[in-house]
Amino acid sequence: MQESYRGRYKKFNLKRLCALLMENAAMMDRAASMEDALNGLAFKMAALAGVDSCVILQQEIDNRFKAVAKHAVADGFDRVVLGGDAAEAFKKKMPTLAEARDLGLPDTEANRHTRFLCMPLLSHRKPISLAVLFSAGKRPEFTADTLEILAITAMQGAHAIDEFYYKEELKKRSDELRRLYEIQRRITQSIDFEKATESIVENAPYITKLKYCMIYLLDPAQRNIVSVKAPHEVEKKFGKLTFRLDELVASRIAMDERRPLFIEDALTYPNISQRIVRMLGFKSAIVLPLIARERVLGVMWLYSTDKKVKFDEDDRRSAMALSDQAAIVIDNARIFKELEESYEKLKDLDKMKMDFFTLISHELRNPLAVIRGFTELLYEGTLGPLNDKQKEKLQRIMENVDKMADMVGKMSEVSIVETKRYPLERMPISLSDMVAGLVSEMGFLFKNKHITLKVDVPQSLPLVEVDREKIEQVLLNLLNNALKYTPEGGEVSVSARDQVSEILVSVHDTGIGIPRKDLDKIFSGFYHAGYKLSYEYKGPGLGLAVSRRIVESHGGRIWAESEEGKGSTFYFTIPKSLITKK
Ligand code: ADP
Repeated sequence: MQESYRGRYKKFNLKRLCALLMENAAMMDRAASMEDALNGLAFKMAALAGVDSCVILQQEIDNRFKAVAKHAVADGFDRVVLGGDAAEAFKKKMPTLAEARDLGLPDTEANRHTRFLCMPLLSHRKPISLAVLFSAGKRPEFTADTLEILAITAMQGAHAIDEFYYKEELKKRSDELRRLYEIQRRITQSIDFEKATESIVENAPYITKLKYCMIYLLDPAQRNIVSVKAPHEVEKKFGKLTFRLDELVASRIAMDERRPLFIEDALTYPNISQRIVRMLGFKSAIVLPLIARERVLGVMWLYSTDKKVKFDEDDRRSAMALSDQAAIVIDNARIFKELEESYEKLKDLDKMKMDFFTLISHELRNPLAVIRGFTELLYEGTLGPLNDKQKEKLQRIMENVDKMADMVGKMSEVSIVETKRYPLERMPISLSDMVAGLVSEMGFLFKNKHITLKVDVPQSLPLVEVDREKIEQVLLNLLNNALKYTPEGGEVSVSARDQVSEILVSVHDTGIGIPRKDLDKIFSGFYHAGYKLSYEYKGPGLGLAVSRRIVESHGGRIWAESEEGKGSTFYFTIPKSLITKK
């Protein structure tokens, strides 16, 4: 082919040919839109062929074509069905002369006397359009040179059209990706079901060729599907739509067989409820099952009401991407709702626990005080003399009453903090002095158990505005535990650091440690870490719960790190806002 062109170029005026090619290229380049380029091409080809008119036809399907550009064409040609020589021209990729009937034009006097030159527009050897050149009522002949020149121009035109298509396709693709990204962003940023599904329904028409999107969910009995999001006009007209599953053939197939259905012609499609097709005016539709974590949640309908749509690979891909997103939204929303409900239930249970605490601690306090009072009277001999054995037993009673009173005290403490009636009496204190005081009071207990107690709390730490008694109680609880759970010969150290944003206090021991799974439970009250060594003493399991309430009511955090058999470190923080400005 190139050879033959080269031969011809010699015969053409080479300068003229170059000028023509340049002109064509410039014209396509200048065109602001595809329509502009095609109209320019129609004009140019008519001029080169020496005819009055030119139509550029684009294939719709099979032999059906529609006009995409016209130059000096009075009427007709908008949609034609090609036959005979016109169809051959496109199929065989050869310029061909055709009659009006080949172009599906009416058999008028003028048409009968007109001969049409059909020139395919080839790009990469593929016919992408057909230019039809003619002068009404005339039957011109075309020289081989004219045909060559026209073929070159047609090819240039076809390339330009291709380029436009690619650009448009690229734009469409990036638009589609942008919208999918937008949906995804909304999904990840909010767990708001309403907003996320609305975003899907709104963006669907830009991602697929179908204008409308509806999302249906299965009801709990799995007998109906209920619309949870539909286009505004549908919601306005019908409100929430509920359909019985036994009526919904297409939705049921999509959900049962877990596959999408692509329905190009809803009116003739066998597996669809025609009542609903008429009710919602479906022309074409895609039905997609909504599946998340193996569970079918419902079904998504994408549909058009104005025209039938032919689906290609892109449509299938985008529709499925969209339904995947919708399934995630619905699943997330459901999980969130369940979590919220469980949380509410837990809150109720927790409140019951606290009410019980308050009641018990309140009810026990008085009888205990009475028992303690009378036992003391007995012990001191006020009510009559006692022998040593009796006195010893009374001593045991008093010790146990004290333990119970301690437990009741902690219980009421927890309930007071929990009910948020927990006044803090803040004053500036030095942590270093506080620790020194505690160590001097408790030091002998550590000595008795041959545990080395180390302190590293610098005097230079800033003062902190805290409730002295309460923070002292936290330190006391932590030191007591360290003492309790560290075997003889171990080591306990207390330290504090200025961490810029907070002060970090820690109590480290080389004791029995806490199993990893128990680390976050020991702060919740009544919990004893399940460790194989038996403890010397099991307290009520409330010290850490109370400590947590105290630290948190100061705006700090408390936690533990530990390794079984090696030791534990308990940390708590005092926020910077409580540091006294110097
Ligand atoms: P109590 O000591 O009265 O049982 P706490 O609330 O102070 O209650 O502690 C809860 C549980 O945490 C303890 O029963 C124990 O299992 C574990 N625990 C606390 N401190 C330590 C520690 N320093 N070493 C090992 N286990 C500890």
